[in-house]
Amino acid sequence: MQSIIHLEGIRKSYYMGKQELQVLKGIDLDILKNEYVALMGPSGSGKSTLMNILGCLDSPTGGKYVLNGHDVSKMADDNLADIRNKEIGFVFQQFNLLPRLTALENVALPLVYAGIGRKQRTEMAMDVIGKVGLQDRSHHKPNELSGGQCQRVAIARALVNNPSLILADEPTGNLDTKTSIEIMDIFGKIQAGGNTVVLVTHEEDIANHAKRIVRLRDGLIESDKTQAGTLQHA
Ligand code: ADP
Ligand code: MG
Repeated sequence: MQSIIHLEGIRKSYYMGKQELQVLKGIDLDILKNEYVALMGPSGSGKSTLMNILGCLDSPTGGKYVLNGHDVSKMADDNLADIRNKEIGFVFQQFNLLPRLTALENVALPLVYAGIGRKQRTEMAMDVIGKVGLQDRSHHKPNELSGGQCQRVAIARALVNNPSLILADEPTGNLDTKTSIEIMDIFGKIQAGGNTVVLVTHEEDIANHAKRIVRLRDGLIESDKTQAGTLQHA
């Protein structure tokens, strides 16, 4: 099976004046198409830094990143934006919805940027809104929705371009346990539908819904385990 993510010696440093903070110190990682991976690790271990690199939102200081056959570590910003729009759906802890737009409008927004006409946008957006179970809330604005519903809208927005890779940085960080499990089940269904899902969580119970758990510590991979009796998703 082909790797959708191939990392070789990925390093990332932040510089404050002359002082260098080495956050990622040489990450080697392969994630295959259609895997469901949880990335764990203590606060400050570099999870978000790695996710931002995986999502082409930030570039590594060194090393090689091949995303779905494209060597993105050598790519210019314009091409990178293109790959990002085609290949990646990103979900954030804070949902990042636009407050004045309805759920439907939030979900359809990436399609506006892609130049797709209104009728087709609405059809495509309603299709993914159905996948996250929010058909009857599509005309509500974020402040009329619960946290879990807002995160479903954000997941639908990440899915609307039909990206091969879904990345989510602490998507359940603002949600209670029951809602978090519902969100994990949605990611499980997305994976079952053929996408690759990589998400960050610091809760063991939540991570156990994924099929593989990669742990970071001090900028290196500490462990990488594929689970045997993984929870089954409908
Ligand atoms: P995690 O998501 O695992 O909590 P992060 O990747 O957010 O960790 O951060 C790893 C380290 O990098 C932390 O020490 C953090 O303070 C530092 N860091 C993150 N982003 C920046 C930045 N833009 N500039 C400087 N330091 C940063
Ligand atoms: Mg983080």
